[in-house]
Amino acid sequence: EVVTRFAPSPTGFLHIGGARTALFNWLYARRHGGRYLLRIEDTDRARSTQPAIEAILDGLRWLGLDWDGEAVFQFERAARHAEVAHQMLASGHAYKCFATADELEAMRAEQRANKLPLRYDGRWRDRDPSDAPAGAPFVIRLRAEQDGETTIHDQVQGAVTVRNAELDDMVLLRSDGTPTYMLAVVVDDHDMGVTHVIRGDDHLNNAFRQLGIVRAMGWPEPVYAHIPLIHGADGAKLSKRHGALGVDAYRDELGILPEALDNYLLRLGWGHGDEEFIPRERAVELFDLSGVGRSPSRFDMKKLENLNGHYLREADDARLAGLVAPRVAALIGRALGEDETDLLRRSMASLKPRARNLNELAEGALFLFRTRPLDLDDRAAALLDEPGLALLAQARAALGAVETWDAPALETALAGVAEAAGVGLGKVAQPLRAALTGRAVSPGIYDVLLLLGRAEGLGRLDDGLA
Ligand code: GLU
Repeated sequence: EVVTRFAPSPTGFLHIGGARTALFNWLYARRHGGRYLLRIEDTDRARSTQPAIEAILDGLRWLGLDWDGEAVFQFERAARHAEVAHQMLASGHAYKCFATADELEAMRAEQRANKLPLRYDGRWRDRDPSDAPAGAPFVIRLRAEQDGETTIHDQVQGAVTVRNAELDDMVLLRSDGTPTYMLAVVVDDHDMGVTHVIRGDDHLNNAFRQLGIVRAMGWPEPVYAHIPLIHGADGAKLSKRHGALGVDAYRDELGILPEALDNYLLRLGWGHGDEEFIPRERAVELFDLSGVGRSPSRFDMKKLENLNGHYLREADDARLAGLVAPRVAALIGRALGEDETDLLRRSMASLKPRARNLNELAEGALFLFRTRPLDLDDRAAALLDEPGLALLAQARAALGAVETWDAPALETALAGVAEAAGVGLGKVAQPLRAALTGRAVSPGIYDVLLLLGRAEGLGRLDDGLA
């Protein structure tokens, strides 16, 4: 059985790099009918916070990356980690090191002076612990393999080899009895039955050390897949400036749909031919580690917005209205009533073709909720010049005569105005749009008239002429 996991440290928001790691783990597990687990690595007590945990859980749920079983909290498992360290001590795969902080600092100072790599020199590796003063504090270190080399057959990076002499005897358990991060990760992955470790390639170096612990314990070795990090469009490591925001900011501030962000993150670093739009079900059918590229992917807000536009057009109008309503409410400073939310739903079809995010949908729908007389922006005001007003007056008269307020009747009325005035329909639509919406840009003029309805529509035209 395939078991993957996402193991975020709750020291900040769920950023898009983390979300992509979660997505890849989720997809890999689903693709292979396995399980996808969540582990919160909260051992850094000073930097881990409850709001960060909530933000991660919330972000994962929003993206539809539900995990199997209960989330595991690493800090709660400290006793188990210590138990494993002591097991390794008993089996000879680890040893007690009594070197004091001062002693180790002196060791490093000498290494620095001789331009040697800073590494624990193994001074307690073969020494008898009874040499240490009674009750002296100690750490437990891994008795690491010193000869030969270690090769990891990474599913993304290929075969990566390190000489064992480069890996020193790392600390497993600190002198206060707390486990190190390296130990905790390995023990948790083992106990959770993780078969595939898919994570950012900033952890590739750790994998060699972690494998040392796995082997010392005689545990099954996981398959590793280290995925390249996300860079900004300029190739530099992703920073806030590039849009390295929390997932919640994509949802709340940028108005991105979760399926769009998922599709975007999937395509960021993984490909299947030229396919751009890969909805969840298709991704579950197709995802494999062999499709993950080796070079860093570049984050591109434009591409994300294009995808988002695609998913907005696919989305159900009632769902969209529910997402847009609070944004409209924030813009007009009051909540929408039920009828207004329904109006919003009916307006989606004409607003969707051009919108790239939920904010644009909200702004596009605003004209429906403005109160008479409208404030015209400069471009709209300019459309109500003398020739514009003349056309507006004729249109008002023709529309006033329309009895059934439907598209064919409205079209006939405005076509008659255009013909009588000897201008194109577009010319007639311009001053109408200005008077009806207060803007120079809007959905199609018939949609605007239909959504506003007869009374409100004619009223706004009268205001424009007054
Ligand atoms: N907690 C680590 C991080 O947030 C991930 C460790 C792992 O995936 O092994 O980067």
